[in-house]
Amino acid sequence: MFTTLVKFRNYGQQAAESAKYIGQGFAVTLDHLNRSPITVKYPYEKIISSERFRGRIHFEFDKCIAREVRVRVCPINLPVVDWKLIKSIKKKQLKNYSIDFGVCIFCGNCVEYCPTNCLSMTEEYELSSYDRHELNYDQIALGRLPLCTSRDLSIQAVSTSASSFSS
Ligand code: SF4
Repeated sequence: MFTTLVKFRNYGQQAAESAKYIGQGFAVTLDHLNRSPITVKYPYEKIISSERFRGRIHFEFDKCIAREVRVRVCPINLPVVDWKLIKSIKKKQLKNYSIDFGVCIFCGNCVEYCPTNCLSMTEEYELSSYDRHELNYDQIALGRLPLCTSRDLSIQAVSTSASSFSS
């Protein structure tokens, strides 16, 4: 008799616990029903990147003094800095500069440590290509000004601050 009562009590506890978890699951579902959808119709709509978004790197050739600091701070020694020494003025002259975005992890170290601020991270994230070699940007490609989503009139910019993720 006592064993049966214990079994009933355990069964009751388990049933109550299950009901609690089911209730919690429904609460999560109902919470999501209140949120607005965040899917955008890319490429007709694009999300405006946040202020500190780490996108394609922009490079200013004229500011660069070929110090190679950013090569040393890069976790994969990525930026290729090609320079020659001008002996008469005892200064390096930059010849070529490139970053392979097929390998770059967009950590931002090079931008952070560059002594002349010739590098900056842009909001550009559309870097896909059929040929991975096209992702190796030279100084000309790196110097191109970034595309600004908010100023592109052909697409509708969607601010993430309006989405439920901001709350
Ligand atoms: S963002 Fe990071 S991985 Fe990419 S080049 Fe700069 S330091 Fe290297």
